[in-house]
Amino acid sequence: MDDHLAKQVLAGDVKAASRLMRDIDDDVPGALIHLKDLYPHTGHAHIIGLTGAPGSGKSTLLDGLIQRLRLQGKTVGVLAIDPTSPFSGGAILGDRIRMQRHANDGDVFIKSIATRGHVGGLSHSAYGLTTVMDAMGKDVILIETVGVGQDEVDITSLAHTTVVVITADMGDGIQAVKSGILETADIFALNKIDLQGSEATHDDIKMMLSMRRDKMHTWLPQVVRTMALKGQGIEELLLQVQKHWTCLCEAGLENFRRQKARTELSLLFRRLLWDHSLSVLNTNQTWQDMVERVLDRDIDPYSAAAELVRQVSRK
Ligand code: GDP
Repeated sequence: MDDHLAKQVLAGDVKAASRLMRDIDDDVPGALIHLKDLYPHTGHAHIIGLTGAPGSGKSTLLDGLIQRLRLQGKTVGVLAIDPTSPFSGGAILGDRIRMQRHANDGDVFIKSIATRGHVGGLSHSAYGLTTVMDAMGKDVILIETVGVGQDEVDITSLAHTTVVVITADMGDGIQAVKSGILETADIFALNKIDLQGSEATHDDIKMMLSMRRDKMHTWLPQVVRTMALKGQGIEELLLQVQKHWTCLCEAGLENFRRQKARTELSLLFRRLLWDHSLSVLNTNQTWQDMVERVLDRDIDPYSAAAELVRQVSRK
């Protein structure tokens, strides 16, 4: 059955897709082979990143977006990436409960994963899981992450359209500048407009945007006011998201694809190089020995790392 996994996914077999996604997430080595077979069938979906601080309303917005996309007849894949420990599981459960009403819709596929503190593992699996959903033929893939530009998942290299969710009560306006999200957001969803101070936050962002140098000359980042809890503003948000996609397609996806290929390749390359190096080093205990030597201050970590590279390249 395993040999046919990619074929089953392409034929729309949800169980097969779930299994493959679990294997990718669990880092089962054989999973990569299936991704090779799926890759030629990808590149069609509009990938939308939704990012923001915990509690800003991402999941609630996501739920509203799914509903409207389905009304448009679009099939949807959702990847909710949760930075919390798998032991607490709270937020993942929250996602599932909130999106429960889509659970019986065969055209909505929801996958929640935890980062589990993987080194480089999350980025790798986020690309892989998106590949599976794309190959399944989903029209739109929504990826929910906390924060932007974290080293684990840089959503902007994976998503065509990046929506940054902000609220008036979090001082996000200031944080936005600090963390550089202003440079990466295509659209701001100013959520919880029922909160005091929303209009001031709106003006702050508009002002900051007016000073921004644009990454795409053809697109000026938009600010959409939403009240996700009441379903307000979601339609306008989706409209802007789809306008951005049209704009990107008209300008040509060439640059975006090149950047994405570069990031994906470098992630995979680093990953395979690391696995390979570790397998070489582990056989003769060199890695463990070096850790002990650094611990004993017999050698500094800089010289130790350089020495390990020399040893790997000699093998
Ligand atoms: P996430 O952690 O970013 O996914 O945020 P959630 O979608 O879980 O929302 C966090 C909390 O904010 C929940 O209790 C929501 O019901 C609430 N919330 C979402 N949208 C709004 C809104 O427009 N106004 C208000 N007042 N609360 C909202």
